[in-house]
Amino acid sequence: MDNQRISDIFAEIANLLEMQGEDPFRIRAYRRAAQTISHFRSEIRILAQAGRLAEIPGVGKILTRDITQLIETGRVRYHEHLRSTVPEGLLAILRLPSLTTDQVRLLWRKHHVTSMKQLIQLYRNHRLPFEADILEALSRDLNNWERDQSRMLLGMALPRAELLAQNLQRISLVERISIAGSLRRGVDLVGDMNIVMATPDPDQLIGTCTRQSEVRQVLFTQSSTNSYSDASDVGASAVIITSEGLRVSLAAVLPSQFDLALLHFTGSKSHIASLNRLAQQRGIHLTATRFTRFRDHSEVPADSETTIYHQLGLPWIAPELRENAGEIEAAMTGSLPAMISDDEVLGDLHVHSNWGNGAHGLENIATAAQRLGYQYVAICDYTYSPATGQGLTPEALRKQIVAIRHLNASLPPTFRLLASAEVEVTADGEIHFDEEVLQELDIVVAAIHTGFKAPQNQITRRLCKAMEHPLVHILAHPSGRMLGRQERPAIDMDTILETAVETNTCLEINSHVLRLDLCDHYVRQAKDLGLLLALGSDAHSVQEMRTMRLGVMTARRGWLEPRQLLNAMSYRDLYRHFHQRDAMHAF
Ligand SMILES: [Zn+2]
Repeated sequence: MDNQRISDIFAEIANLLEMQGEDPFRIRAYRRAAQTISHFRSEIRILAQAGRLAEIPGVGKILTRDITQLIETGRVRYHEHLRSTVPEGLLAILRLPSLTTDQVRLLWRKHHVTSMKQLIQLYRNHRLPFEADILEALSRDLNNWERDQSRMLLGMALPRAELLAQNLQRISLVERISIAGSLRRGVDLVGDMNIVMATPDPDQLIGTCTRQSEVRQVLFTQSSTNSYSDASDVGASAVIITSEGLRVSLAAVLPSQFDLALLHFTGSKSHIASLNRLAQQRGIHLTATRFTRFRDHSEVPADSETTIYHQLGLPWIAPELRENAGEIEAAMTGSLPAMISDDEVLGDLHVHSNWGNGAHGLENIATAAQRLGYQYVAICDYTYSPATGQGLTPEALRKQIVAIRHLNASLPPTFRLLASAEVEVTADGEIHFDEEVLQELDIVVAAIHTGFKAPQNQITRRLCKAMEHPLVHILAHPSGRMLGRQERPAIDMDTILETAVETNTCLEINSHVLRLDLCDHYVRQAKDLGLLLALGSDAHSVQEMRTMRLGVMTARRGWLEPRQLLNAMSYRDLYRHFHQRDAMHAF
């Protein structure tokens, strides 16, 4: 039970009370608690176990009761009672940011809307009683909602798909196996989980796969003999639901067809369409299982993706670039980016320790980091902020710096912990913290975690002001987006990027499962502006440090090259970089 989940339930209680026209004081109490808890930096679960819930501002007797119930039983009886008073479908509508609770109540009482489907129907028939600007915002929300129905976070989907592929690989009929689809391209929200397999007997293999113990349901199967008769030509296939509820498309083809199928199922659709046009110009027929000349139906070599691209006059294009976003033109002119790879990442620039709200101590982090092959890790706990009443005080941070320097002296010379901190930017863009202590840090990271409901220009100004602060090196999770929750940045990203250039500030690619911020799109914009970017796992435990690969995929999707990545610098170069930058700022 994490804080966000508790906060979501309280926010829903507030909405449901409002739908029923209940006591405004009670509504406000739940809404305030939801906000406080979502920004609270210690785990509420742990406070509850220690009997310290009363320390959370705005949490009185009733809310303490609810939190305790929630943690002990996973449910709140009051919440369940309220839910039963409102049709299930309205709960999703209540979560749309564009509609107020009053508007949802109006839809329910006057227009009898009880499901998202009905709402979409009314919207399409122009029957909604709202002003144009609300309708415009609603249209965006409805589009997002429809899209999100079938999408999953990259960081959740990837390990699950890898585990499934590992298990399927044990089937003796499987000669080769690979993850394909948007997952292989590293898309932040994955629509389709695709697995492609090579086997001497595609039909039998698909049959075997669908009988595996982790398959809960088989939605669809198609035999290869059927598919050969139609133009789509995709081998044998099945769509299954796993025991975890994931929808996965499986494709099985002959070993000689594997790379064609892998290319085809990796997509994207528009990238493949462009490849098809190139193939046609060369008189070649390209499908998921066939690569043949129009003229005499003779086969064109297709024993690897590289061979296939070569036959089309192109170098191999990495999956993360296959979005038909200029990669084919770049391939033609030999100007594909030399993208960053996992082993070029020499350190992690954002890790929380147990000095703050992380789970592990400095030594554990140093050991884990060396195991990952890193040369350095920046210890980056929150500094004290009056708004939340939490974080390291200047005294505590000073002690941590001493502890880091002390530990470094006992570590091998090939590895260093860097003293850093994640400093909260105040509502007016200031950094209220002892500057003498900040000056002692190797790296100062600034961030905001609250106040995203303020007007866009205000939040943008707040972040720009923070970047103008001479001590700030890196801006963490710059757009503030949360995947699947709040994807549109609440700020003007063009201004943020320009200010980063002017102030020589690095922007972070935060690799946390829920963030991936900057996203691929802004990474590419930052790259074109010549900015330096910093990868950080934002790990709160040593296990979470492994999410770095999600950030690397995002960086690759943004065409980022090592020379524009801070983490690709050796410890020495990194140190020199910040030293020179600080010297410049001093003038
Ligand atoms: Zn952090």
